[in-house]
Amino acid sequence: MRYAILSDIHGNLEALRAVRADYTGKADAALCLGDTVGYGAEPLACVELVAESAEAVVAGNHEHAVAGRLDLGWFNRYARVAAEWTRDRLDDDHRGYLAALPLVREVGDATLVHASPAQPEEWDYLVSAEDGFAAFAHFRTRWCFVGHSHVPAAWSLGSSGPEHHPGVVHLPRERGRRYVVNVGSVGQPRDRDPRAAYALWDTEAGTVEIRRVAYDVTTARRKILDAGLPRFLADRLAAGA
Ligand code: ZN
Repeated sequence: MRYAILSDIHGNLEALRAVRADYTGKADAALCLGDTVGYGAEPLACVELVAESAEAVVAGNHEHAVAGRLDLGWFNRYARVAAEWTRDRLDDDHRGYLAALPLVREVGDATLVHASPAQPEEWDYLVSAEDGFAAFAHFRTRWCFVGHSHVPAAWSLGSSGPEHHPGVVHLPRERGRRYVVNVGSVGQPRDRDPRAAYALWDTEAGTVEIRRVAYDVTTARRKILDAGLPRFLADRLAAGA
């Protein structure tokens, strides 16, 4: 199987459509690591597209926030404004769907979780080398795919020792090695590259590739401004930060 693994779409329909076009023909199915809503102007369209096209979906902190499962006091000002705006646009069906998403799923030899497999509901960020290495004790599969930081990275453990691969592009097969992979963000990249990010995972070849896809940032920004959401959320898309 070849999977497209998407995370942190954040209501950015332009980025999601560009990523779907990119993985069509390259992937057999899609998986989603959460934060499909929040920040962007098209949360409902993104939720519906993900719900109909992804084989497995886990919840992010933004799903929990808009579904009333996470206190908005944990959010910064921009995230809180966006969560309240999104919540006001959800009907009971959408709210029920988002509230029922699991925190962790296993698909084949992979664990899917939004933030960290250690305590998924604490929404800890995996950033440093140590953060990633500590995560390996908390999942059983060979692979663990995460999002949340919006920055692609990978950590691996094997007989030749631990490795941290910041800004990873390709992870080759190595017998017995286990990996934690942050697939980056479709809808709000924060690594100074404004292009949408997602991962292609080939289960037979045992490889992962992080792909970057240019999309219509201008339209996504305009929709955020037209919606009355904070200008900062529009501007950061152009900066990829
Ligand atoms: Zn996010």
